[in-house]
Amino acid sequence: MEGIPVYILVAYLVAAVLFIIGLMRLSTPKTARVGNVLAAIGMLIAIVVTLLLKEVLNYTMILIGIAIGGAIGGVVARTVKMTAMPQMVGIYNGFGGGASLLIAGAEFFRYMNLGEGITVQSSVTIVLTILIGAVTFSGSMIAFGKLQGLVKARPITYPLQNIWNLVIFLAVLGMMGYLVAVSGNIPVFIALVVVGLVLGVLLVIPIGGADMPVVISLLNSYSGLAACAAGFVLGSMFLIISGALVGAAGFILTRIMCKAMNRSIGNVIFGAFGAVVQTGGAAGEEGEKVVREATPEDVSMLIGYAKSVIFVPGYGLATSQAQHHVAELAGILEQRGTDVKYAIHPVAGRMPGHMNVLLAEANVPYDKLYDLDDINADFERTDVAVVVGANDVTNPVARDVVDSPLYGMPILNVDKAKSVIVIKRSLSPGFAGIDNPLFYMERTMMFFRDGKQAFIEILEEIKNL
Ligand code: NAP
Repeated sequence: MEGIPVYILVAYLVAAVLFIIGLMRLSTPKTARVGNVLAAIGMLIAIVVTLLLKEVLNYTMILIGIAIGGAIGGVVARTVKMTAMPQMVGIYNGFGGGASLLIAGAEFFRYMNLGEGITVQSSVTIVLTILIGAVTFSGSMIAFGKLQGLVKARPITYPLQNIWNLVIFLAVLGMMGYLVAVSGNIPVFIALVVVGLVLGVLLVIPIGGADMPVVISLLNSYSGLAACAAGFVLGSMFLIISGALVGAAGFILTRIMCKAMNRSIGNVIFGAFGAVVQTGGAAGEEGEKVVREATPEDVSMLIGYAKSVIFVPGYGLATSQAQHHVAELAGILEQRGTDVKYAIHPVAGRMPGHMNVLLAEANVPYDKLYDLDDINADFERTDVAVVVGANDVTNPVARDVVDSPLYGMPILNVDKAKSVIVIKRSLSPGFAGIDNPLFYMERTMMFFRDGKQAFIEILEEIKNL
């Protein structure tokens, strides 16, 4: 950091403070927009002052890069659907890891070309950046492929998988040690990059599609660590701080998601969850189980005359984009004197905060949204719980069936409500692939429709009450 003008160091500090305040504001929906803007301003300050450094040799290439990257980012941000957000984050993490890998590679070759020996500190940071960057890049690409349907979503497992991964990891450590000890060797450097990339692939293929958002969050944390390590390689205080923030934030988010699913991080990474299709006996017994199918009139009568209604949104709300229709129905019910609430499970949908974002888009007031712990006791006092495209997060087996893979995951106690309406297209299981006994309860009515279509029909009927 020697030789960097003081005003640039101060600007970096301001940018880092803006990142921290931005992150703090991202923790509640009310302040999240402002938080995002503050962090973006911090990043703009950091980029502008970095361009003022005299080491910058080629402004033309940088401007071309900004123009191409900015154009792609702008188009993607406007066109990618909310449901595809996890894979977008996944691919961005991969690029972050890839960029750190390239930085470390460039520094490695710079030292080799200079012909000077690399200090131990520099070689340790370079080899660490290479390993974390390579694992993050290839692991994120596989995670992206699984979520996008380009790679088989089911866990890919083979005998002695974790042992093989351990052997490869030890080989990587050996290569890293060798590179540090001999101050650089090009064939070993190339082997380290290749084996690091292979390790990233092998670590992610045994993880099922349902766990991919957790993996993406973990890889996000790795990409922060890779950037942090690259910061040490370049002697950049700003990269170290911002990388550490991303690393810590990604790790905290991973822990929150694991806690909401009652799983450990180790179980997500090594558990091959979803490798065996568990249907809770549904497939064989489907014929014996009875469901009560509802018509739009049944549903509107039940909801229209209820004193209290809790909407329970899930992934199907996102795919059918029914949020505006749900909010419209809630408005009509409130005008009729009904007490309306929304129950939000922390892992409903496919990414943290998924339901909050969708409902905020439909201008549902934040104070109508209740977290799992705050609403669970209300269900037994509630006339009607309306489940909109949610499944796993309402599955009572998670609470009651000890040998179920879902056992222990906190759920919304929808089955305790006086009546339940479930809106979904079929009896298909949710992402965990486990049948849901809620559908077969006597107090449950199934309204088999696409989410948005269901609400169009209910809204039509409720106006006639
Ligand atoms: P879910 O269990 O995946 O179930 C979603 C349901 O939506 C499906 O059963 C599907 O049934 C229905 N659906 C799909 N498209 C629909 C449409 N157009 N209209 C109406 N219904 C539709 O979803 P969830 O209850 O929200 O649970 C989330 C799952 O993702 C959990 O297993 C959670 O652990 C996992 N997960 C979430 C996160 C996160 O951060 N949110 C992270 C990791 C894992 P039909 O096909 O019959 O319509």
